[in-house]
Formats: sequence, C-alpha cells, structure tokens
Amino acid sequence: MKKILGSLSLTFASVRLCGIIVFSLYFGLSSAQVKTISKQITYRLFLIGDAGNDTTVCSSLSEVAKSSEKDPNATVILLGDNVYPKGVEKGNPNSERVRISEKKMGVQIDAFHDFTGQFYVIPGNHDWKKSRWGGLKGVKNERAFVDTFSITHTQASNKGAVMFPGDGLPGPVMKNINPYVNMIMIDTDWWLQGRFFHPIGRERINGRKLSKHQADEKFFVALDSLLNIGKTTGKWSVIVAHHPVYTNGRHQQSYTVWRNLVNYTPMQIFGLLGVNRLLTSNIYQPCYKEMRKKLKKTIDKYDHVIYASGHDHNLQYFHIDSNFYVVSGAGSKGSQIKKEKFKCECSCDHHKGYAIIEFKNGKEADLHFNIVGPSSEIFHSKLE
Ligand SMILES: [Zn+2]
Repeated sequence: MKKILGSLSLTFASVRLCGIIVFSLYFGLSSAQVKTISKQITYRLFLIGDAGNDTTVCSSLSEVAKSSEKDPNATVILLGDNVYPKGVEKGNPNSERVRISEKKMGVQIDAFHDFTGQFYVIPGNHDWKKSRWGGLKGVKNERAFVDTFSITHTQASNKGAVMFPGDGLPGPVMKNINPYVNMIMIDTDWWLQGRFFHPIGRERINGRKLSKHQADEKFFVALDSLLNIGKTTGKWSVIVAHHPVYTNGRHQQSYTVWRNLVNYTPMQIFGLLGVNRLLTSNIYQPCYKEMRKKLKKTIDKYDHVIYASGHDHNLQYFHIDSNFYVVSGAGSKGSQIKKEKFKCECSCDHHKGYAIIEFKNGKEADLHFNIVGPSSEIFHSKLE
C-alpha cells in the first residue's frame, strides 16, 4: 500500500513538474521568470478590531471589505470585541437582545459575501460577555454562530471554520495564510477570565483535565515552538490577539488605589466575584501583567515577530527590540491615547480606521494605517 501511495505521489509530482515545464515553454518563460511572477504577488493582511458596535457595518470595516473584495490573496482578521456589549447572546432567538447581538455579528460577516480570500475572527473581552458570569458559554455561542453563519454569507476559502481559538481555550492555533506568513491566533481573555464563578475552557491530555497552571505552561511551550517554525523556515510569524502587549491607550492606566484595594485587601472578595471587571482588561492588573510578561519573554527570544491586537480604540505602532507591535482597535469606536508610557512610532486616536500589512518577496513587509475618508492612508512604514 505504502509503495502504491509512494508511486502515486511520484506520478502526481511528475505530472505537476511536466505541467510547469509545458506552461513555461508554451509561454516562452524561463524558470527564473516563473519565479519572478510568483514573487510579484503581494499578500495583504487586514487587521481591524473592536468593530461590532452597531447593527450596520461600521465605515472602517466597509472600507476593508471594499478594498479586499477582489483579492483572493488577502486575509482579513477581526481582532476581538466583535459584538458590543456582551458578544453574541444566547437565549430565545426572538428576543430583542439575542436578535440585535446576532445582527451586529452577522452584518460584519455579510460584508464579505463575495470575498474569496481568508476571513478570521478572534474573541475579545466583550465576546466573553464583557467578563461577566457566563463568559465561557458566551464565547462558545459566538463561535458556533460565526462558523455557521459564515457558511452561507461569505465565499471566504475558510468559511465554516472562521473563529479561533475555540471552546474558550487559549490556543495557539496556527494558519499558514500565505507563502510568507504563519498567523498564530490566541485568546488572551482566557488568562483574564479564570476566576471564581468565571470558568474557562479546560485543556485535556488523554482525557485528563489540566489545571490552569499546567495549561498555561503547555501554551507557552507551544507558542515557542510555533515561533521557532517561523524562524527556521524563514517565514513571518504574526501573532493575533485581542489584548495588546504595548499600548499607550486607556487600558494602560494604572488606577493604583482601586487596583490595590481589590487585589491585596479583604476587598478582594469583589475581585473574586468579578466586580473588578473594568480593571481586568488593563495591563497593570495582576493576571494581565503575568500574561504580558510571559508573552514578552517568549517573543523576545525571536526577531521579526509581529504582534497585532485591538482592545484600545485607536491605531498604534511600536518597534521594540527586533519585533513589531500593532494596535488596531479603531474599528467602530475611538478612545484617546494617554501619556506616552511606551515609545511609539506612530499613533492616531482621532479617527476610525484599520491596519494593513503587505508581504512580498519573502521577508519584505510594509505596515499601513488607514483611516476612514478620502485621504485614507495616514502612516506607512517598512517593518525591518
Ligand atoms: Zn477589549
């Protein structure tokens, strides 16, 4: 059997090779020219976060849809907080609450009805029911809705398998989205949710449930090995997550007094009950701090890693050590940049917008920030 399969694959390989030679001879192309043609393709990655504030498509997502529509080499990713305020809701399908939340999600997928590239969605804190009780059920429900809805409402090449990671698990899930890029999807809210009354997806090995600590260790070993694949194969690794590693936006405010009260005094009972949910999404909160430290430590072992996120409702770009950090959370909301805590190459907090990264010729990558309106590009930089 093995022999048959071996000779079959050899035959396919020979047929493919003959095809390329015939094609080249017929069109009078040398192998170098054929290579050049494949090199000329630009693969675009559209990054847009926090786009689900309305029951109609927000203007920035509408621009992304228009710009990517005829490009089968494009990948679009929604970077979380896909439906405000509490994700796609579960319950009586005729209730206004459920209907509106499904509509907010549905219009975003439907905007890509003729798109034949790849379309992905990752969860944010609002998709986990705004960090309230029932967040795990909420994020599972949203995934089921997104994957099912995408089957009939988009021509994306991955329709039916759009939202990752699933089951309230942290990931990492890697997709080879084009010859130059491995995209690694993670659910950062998994670290911020795991509290009393706030269950999270449980990893299993051979049917045995892992503790959060064990699952956390497993995650970072896996992330490290995926980044290593990028390094050894000479491809870009693009991590996409909802929560930023670096931000100068609203979510880097420290709220020191209140944070200390709910974390280190008897008032932490309020933290256990989830009353401190407004803080959990800020980078100084202990769970976030810990996750961020581990992400940084893992990413810092490599160079030319891109980490893209949403969460803060603006556009920011950081080039720190040899890696690149992009915040693109200005899909449907806007919020001010606060003091410059981290050295930022570019930031914009006046407009709705999105980011595009163009990949070509192997290691070449260009970052663009676009805002809604006629003079749409506001920033352009080579990632090198
Ligand atoms: Zn968020």
